Amino acid sequence: MSIPIIDPHMHMISRSTSDYERARLAGVECCIEPAFWSGQDKQHAESFFDYFEQIIDFETKRAERTAGVDHYVTIGLEPKEANYPDMAERVLDRVPEYLDRENVVGVGEIGLDQGTEQEEYAFRRQLRMAEERELPVMIHTPHTDKAEGTERIVEMIKDEDVTEERIVIDHNTEHTVDISLQTDCWLGFTLYPGKIDDETVIDLLEEYGIDKMMLNSAADWDPSDPLAVPKARDKMLDRGWDRAAVRKVVLDNPCNFFDQSPNFDYEV
Ligand SMILES: [Zn+2]
Repeated sequence: MSIPIIDPHMHMISRSTSDYERARLAGVECCIEPAFWSGQDKQHAESFFDYFEQIIDFETKRAERTAGVDHYVTIGLEPKEANYPDMAERVLDRVPEYLDRENVVGVGEIGLDQGTEQEEYAFRRQLRMAEERELPVMIHTPHTDKAEGTERIVEMIKDEDVTEERIVIDHNTEHTVDISLQTDCWLGFTLYPGKIDDETVIDLLEEYGIDKMMLNSAADWDPSDPLAVPKARDKMLDRGWDRAAVRKVVLDNPCNFFDQSPNFDYEV
């Protein structure tokens, strides 16, 4: 029997129903949809609230109705749009009310894009929101100057003195693993063109071990693959990994991470 999967980072709002069906057939039983940048900067705080509502309500129902996929959400102001101070302030003021919604399992994705002061302000404020509520946090590391950005993120996590076991630092590469491992945070790897490919990730897992390591597809509107995690699962098996180790990476780890949220009730 094939090993079921939780993909902890999928932007299914940018995907079709047939993608849900294909992912489910390949073993993806559960996914987490973090709030993110929609491809174009929003002009109004209200646009965020409609977007949050859509992923919380419509996407969760669509995933369940069309493919039987258990769908959860994280809510946050991502770094790109944190750079519009007035709009950001209005969004941040209302993030807490979305964190109380029944299928919201954390804060995210938050982090750094260009590394501006505004981004750091929004990041720190949302780290504190999560800490107050004891919720998981999903952190986006920047595309450019990734190592420096990840170092800065680690500095801010230490500085805010928040619970590292409730944080996943995502989009790691071979250049950031050592930096992220200076914390007790979990590590995410995004199998995505321009980020990292599955063979490289599997090499890293063989080198660094699989504790607190998770794989995801991002599955947004750009070239990406909602089946990236099932394909990596199959490659790990092909490379001779034992089933328990594969299962830990693709199922048990994401399950244990999000089980830190009272709203996550997927049963392995
Ligand atoms: Zn994302």
